[in-house]
Amino acid sequence: MRPFDLTAPTTVEDALSSPGTFLAGGTTLVDLMKLNVLTPEHVQDINALPLRGIDTGSGLRFGALERMGDIARHPGVYPVISEALLQSASQQLRNMASIGGNLLQRTRCGYFRDTAAACNKREPGSGCSAVHGANRMHAILGTSDSCVATHASDVAVALVALDAQVGLVSDAGERTVALADFYRLPGETPEVENDLRPGELITEVVVPRLDWAWRSTYVKVRDRQSYEFALCSAAVALDIQDSHVVDARVAVGGVATVPWRLTAVEAALRGAPATEAGFEAAASVAADGAKPLSGNSFKVSLLKRTVVRALLEGSRR
Ligand code: SF4
Repeated sequence: MRPFDLTAPTTVEDALSSPGTFLAGGTTLVDLMKLNVLTPEHVQDINALPLRGIDTGSGLRFGALERMGDIARHPGVYPVISEALLQSASQQLRNMASIGGNLLQRTRCGYFRDTAAACNKREPGSGCSAVHGANRMHAILGTSDSCVATHASDVAVALVALDAQVGLVSDAGERTVALADFYRLPGETPEVENDLRPGELITEVVVPRLDWAWRSTYVKVRDRQSYEFALCSAAVALDIQDSHVVDARVAVGGVATVPWRLTAVEAALRGAPATEAGFEAAASVAADGAKPLSGNSFKVSLLKRTVVRALLEGSRR
């Protein structure tokens, strides 16, 4: 790890007026600093900033520094969010990692973390080792010739399904962005992963009230049942009346370069019978547009089956 300066501002104003990479739980940043993937000269420990709180009065509001474990355990949080959090990382990490930091976590592509490998995301213009390399864990949706890495966050998938927004602040003022619009496809600039501007800070995550989101779930398929990233995951919420789907939210992870909303599946679900056959018919379009790589064509069928399983489990809530 390279030497760096560490400061600890106590107000948002102080944090914004000083240069430096923001450190919250540190569960991504410190890892990548140890590997020399990230080498900031200035680090600001922002844990003293007043960015806490879980408000479940009308919709949900989480301060950006709230810990993943605390949000997951809160009884006023929709199941799809709690379950996505509880299936993330380990209990120790969930007790440290912040919700704001989770949304900004970097990809788990092994080449990104290996400074000896070519990686356009870490070193723009150097190439992508994964396109013709070990790409079993990589994306089949939203990819480009420059990068095929998946987005690593579980809870971002649940939040995108529920139309969550992030609150942001910088010297230029405050703004709110839909989380679905916050993330960027890799295109030719995979190093630009989101809409966060230089010096800007996430202050909160807001989830609009959706009463039928209590019938929701998060299914995560992975190589082992704990402390592992998703091969494929699905976040679903269902409004079911008289055995038919009135409305639905579906988003998937582990298969795309950003948390991936399946609006075509949602459209197919509206009015469909809430049965396995109805769910299978809707999920048949889940992988439309997919571009499998040499090592991950299995994700096409896995994606459809994961969506069906999540819809079945969600419908039983
Ligand atoms: Fe880098 Fe993306 Fe290629 Fe992985 S997939 S090596 S992160 S450019």
